[in-house]
Amino acid sequence: MSTDPKLLSAILEAAPIAMVMIDREGEIALVNTETEKLFGYPRNELLGQPVEILVPDRFRAAHPGHRGSFFATPTARRMGIGRDLYARRKDNSEFPVEIGLNPVETGEGVFVLSAIADITERKQAEEKFRLVVESAPNAMVMVNQHGEIVLVNSETERCFGYPRADLLGQSIEMLVPTRFRENHPGYRHDYFNHLVTRSMGAGRDLFGLHKDGSEFPVEIGLNPIRTQEGTLVLSSIIDISERKQAEQALQDRSDELARSNAELEQFAYLASHDLQEPLRTVTSFVDVLQRDSHQMRSEKVGTSLRFISNAATRMSELITGLLEYSRVGREGQQVIVDCNTMVNAIQEDLSHIISESRATLNVEELPQLKGCEPELRMLVQNLIINAIKFRTKDTDPSIRIVARQEQRYWQISIHDNGIGIAPEHQNRIFDIFQRLHTKQEYEGTGIGLAHCRKIVHAHGGKIWVDSYVGKGSAFHFTLPC
Ligand code: ADP
Repeated sequence: MSTDPKLLSAILEAAPIAMVMIDREGEIALVNTETEKLFGYPRNELLGQPVEILVPDRFRAAHPGHRGSFFATPTARRMGIGRDLYARRKDNSEFPVEIGLNPVETGEGVFVLSAIADITERKQAEEKFRLVVESAPNAMVMVNQHGEIVLVNSETERCFGYPRADLLGQSIEMLVPTRFRENHPGYRHDYFNHLVTRSMGAGRDLFGLHKDGSEFPVEIGLNPIRTQEGTLVLSSIIDISERKQAEQALQDRSDELARSNAELEQFAYLASHDLQEPLRTVTSFVDVLQRDSHQMRSEKVGTSLRFISNAATRMSELITGLLEYSRVGREGQQVIVDCNTMVNAIQEDLSHIISESRATLNVEELPQLKGCEPELRMLVQNLIINAIKFRTKDTDPSIRIVARQEQRYWQISIHDNGIGIAPEHQNRIFDIFQRLHTKQEYEGTGIGLAHCRKIVHAHGGKIWVDSYVGKGSAFHFTLPC
């Protein structure tokens, strides 16, 4: 296509944008009024000059090279894609520009017509936007339609642990935990098809992925931003770890309250019921003594007094047990407890009943655990005492204590070869005052295992039993590492 230079120049004059036409040597052949205004040169100072007078000094040396390569393959396109372009005014000041290049064939050969737009205002607006994003108290991440990160602020660097350069141009999915990554592009496409300002993932828990591989809970707001380069999405991301922790602490506290409330109710019921029993014994024998003592033989008086004394002792044991039970978890410092040392000390304390019952204890290597030492000691001691107490008549007690580590906790097990517990009783024995035998068969208060369970719960663990009647039991408890 060839163009009439006069017609061309008339069109250029009418254009509201600076237009500069150069020849193959880079000399300015044509400019319009808008160019004179923009660059501050009168037309005669431009015509015949190398176009490089419009290029800032720092880019000038490279310009003839760019020019040469355009003339080698002249097609209509934008100049300097991916680079910021600047132009120079007569007074040497610079301003940012966007330049469109068009080859123009004339009778005198190929010329290049450049349309030059001053984008100072747009750049200033962009800079303002960047500053607002930068100073936001939340992490702000902008992505394009392909899910590539095009802008982040310093809070994003802090929150996710990456320097900015490692984020820009990368896929946003790098900030999404692997388990959610597969679905994320789908959500992204849906969002680009329904662009509205809204929060992300309603009803779902959202997590961010830190560079070190750790996850943290987040809340995300999405804002579509329409730009010349297409629609971008600006996400504002808040790390809500602290809030979640506070919520969890509140939840734990309310669970704890509900648990201790239920315990209190059960406790009140059982205390009134079980403490009445020895008290009834005491009062009924006191009645007998009051009524009949004058006509009773002294040995009968002696027996009644013994019953009274036994009942009073039992009452005192029950009350002591209850007091100890009610104190679990309320006092006592958390320290590192070496369970090997602790079990040795328990064995020494129990040496009398161990040797009397001819029990053997086989203790494997035990861990160090964090907890309240007197409580952990009470826990293990109760279980050892039970393992000896509930032995079969004809076999010496043999007790084995072992520990094994699971992911986040230790499990300690105390195996015995005693009488065992029928399956239907295996849960209720952990409730307060629940006994499977009369005190004539096996003495006790029925508080021991309830006490154990309370201690284990207060330390964040669980306790249960595996048992076979006539073969033996294994009491297991877990405590966090
Ligand atoms: P106590 O020992 O004072 O009766 P516990 O709360 O320690 O109370 O135990 C509750 C009941 O659980 C016991 O009465 C007994 O029937 C049963 N039990 C506990 N430990 C064992 C064990 N090692 N073998 C068999 N039965 C057991």
